[in-house]
Amino acid sequence: MDYHKLAELLFPHIDKTPEDYRNEMYPQRQLPQGAVVDRFAPSPTGFLHIGGLYTALVNERMAHQTGGRIILRIEDTDKKREVEDGVSGIVEGLKSFGLEFDEGMMNQTEQKGDYGPYQQSRRAEIYQCFCKSLVEQGLAYPCFCSEEDLAEIRRRQESEKALPGYHSSYAKCRDLTYEQIAQNIQQGLPYVVRLRSPGKIGGRIKYKDVIRGEIEMDENVIDVVLLKTDGIPTYHFAHAVDDSLMGTTHVIRSDEWVSSVPLHLQLFYVLGLKPPKYAHISPIMKEDGGAKRKLSKRKDPEAAVSYFVDQGYPKEAVLEYLLGLANSGFEDWRKQNKEAPFWDYKLQLNKMSQSGALFDLVKLADVSAQVVSRFPAEKIAREAAEWAKTRNPALYQALSSDPDYAAAIFAIDRGGKNPRKDIRKWSDVADYVSYFYEALRQPGWDWPENVSKEDAAAILEQYAKVYDQQDDKNGWFDRLKSICQPLGFCPDVKAYKAEPSAYKGHVGDVSAVIRVAITGRRNSPDLWSIMALLGKERCLQRLEQAKKALAE
Ligand code: GLU
Repeated sequence: MDYHKLAELLFPHIDKTPEDYRNEMYPQRQLPQGAVVDRFAPSPTGFLHIGGLYTALVNERMAHQTGGRIILRIEDTDKKREVEDGVSGIVEGLKSFGLEFDEGMMNQTEQKGDYGPYQQSRRAEIYQCFCKSLVEQGLAYPCFCSEEDLAEIRRRQESEKALPGYHSSYAKCRDLTYEQIAQNIQQGLPYVVRLRSPGKIGGRIKYKDVIRGEIEMDENVIDVVLLKTDGIPTYHFAHAVDDSLMGTTHVIRSDEWVSSVPLHLQLFYVLGLKPPKYAHISPIMKEDGGAKRKLSKRKDPEAAVSYFVDQGYPKEAVLEYLLGLANSGFEDWRKQNKEAPFWDYKLQLNKMSQSGALFDLVKLADVSAQVVSRFPAEKIAREAAEWAKTRNPALYQALSSDPDYAAAIFAIDRGGKNPRKDIRKWSDVADYVSYFYEALRQPGWDWPENVSKEDAAAILEQYAKVYDQQDDKNGWFDRLKSICQPLGFCPDVKAYKAEPSAYKGHVGDVSAVIRVAITGRRNSPDLWSIMALLGKERCLQRLEQAKKALAE
C-alpha cells in the first residue's frame, strides 16, 4: 500500500508537517533547569468540582514553585459534555480562588500565551496534521465500521472469550486496500482514523508515576480512534499532541487516567515524541457511614466549588485546606510558620496520598478559623461585605454603610499571639457583629445563672452611675472593681477563692452581667473595646434596657 497516497486522499487540505509545528510554531521553552511546565485541562462543563480545584492547585504549585509555567487548556473535543458558557464557568471559578495561570483561556473566548490555541476545538488542523503523518507511516488507517459492525465484533469476542476492543484480527479495516478505501470515501461513507497499534497481546509496560511509583500494566493493543468522523480528535490523541507541542513536562491529573497510560505512552512512541512525566492524583474521599467513598457530584453539595463560595469560606482557607490534604507535612510546616503565606510551603508530589485524602468539613472550618484569625480587620470587613452583597442584604448594608466602623469591630482582639477564632466563614459574621448594629441586634440576654436578677439589676444600676467613657482599659477595670464591695461581690478573684462564702461572687461575675447587658451574650471579645466602639450613649442605653428587662 502506498501510505503516502492514502494520507493525501484522507487529508488533502493539510500541507504542514509535524516538524513545521515543532520547529516553527512551538519552539522549545527556555526555562531554568528543573522548571515544571504543567497544565490544568478541564472539559468546559461550567462546573468546577472541588477535585478539579485540588488538581489545579497542585499543578499551579508545582509550576510556580519551580519557576515553570502552568497552562489552562480547555478540552472540548467531546461536544456532548459541553454546556453554554462552560469555559467562563471554569475560568471564573479558578479566578475566584486566585489561581494564576501563565497561559491559556482567560475567559469564554480570549487566551494568552505563545503555545496556543488553548482550546482543543480550535486545534483541529494540528491534530489532523499529526494524524496525516501517522497515516503516511502506516501507523494509522481509516475505519468505516458502523455501530452494527462494532456490535458484531463485540458479540464474536464474547463468544470466543477474546479481549474486547478493536484489535488484531478483529480490526476489520486494518487491511483494506487503497482502492477499497477510495471507493468507500467516494460513496461518502463516514469513517474514523484509528491507530495501528504496535502492541502485542501479553506484552507489558512499566512506567514510574511521580506519585504512585513504579507501575506495570498490559501494553495497549487496541487500535483506538484518533480522529472521529468529524475530524475532531479523541481525548487521548489530543493529549499526546498538545502536551508535546506545549512543552508539558509533567501531566498531573486525576487517577481515573492511570489505566490510559499504556495507550498514551504508545501514542508518544508512534508519534516519535518524548512523553511527559505522569503524576496521578487520588480522588478526594469522604467518610460515609464508616466507609470511604469518592466525593460525589450528585450526593455531596461540597463537591461543587460554588458551595464554599456560598458558605463564605475565604479562598485562602480553602486552598490552605487543600494543601493540607495534598501533603500531610503541611500542618507541621504551618505550626512552625504561623504567619507565612501558604505559597511559601514547598509541595511535594511524591508525598501525596495514594489512597485518597479524606475531605472533612469540620477540619476545613478549623483551618478556616485559623486563616481568618490572621487576616487584617479591613480585609475581613471588606470580604464579608462582598459576600453579603447578594446573600444577606441587612449585613451588607450594615458593613458597607461605615467601613471604618466595620473594620474597628474586627480589629478587637486581633493580632497578637492568640487571636480569636470565632469567624470560620463569612456566613458567621452576621451573628458575630450583631450587637454592634441596632438593625442586626438579636433580642434577649443570656444572663449568668450564678447572679440573682436583683443583684444583676443592682450591678447595672451602680455601674451606670460610675461608668466613664474616657477610661482606659485599666481605669475601666478599676471602676468595675469599685462597685463590687458595696454590692457584696469580691473585687479580687483570688481573695474570693480563699473565702467564697463571704461574698455573692467576684468581679468576674460583675463584669459578666455587664457583658450580657451590652452584648446579649456571655462570651464576647474584649468588653472594654466593645464599649469604647459602641460609645457612651449606646452603652448607657443598653444598661438601662437590660435593667428594665430584668425587672419584667
Ligand atoms: N480533560 C480531561 C478531564 O477533564 C483532563 C485529563 C488530563 O488532565 O489529561 O478529565
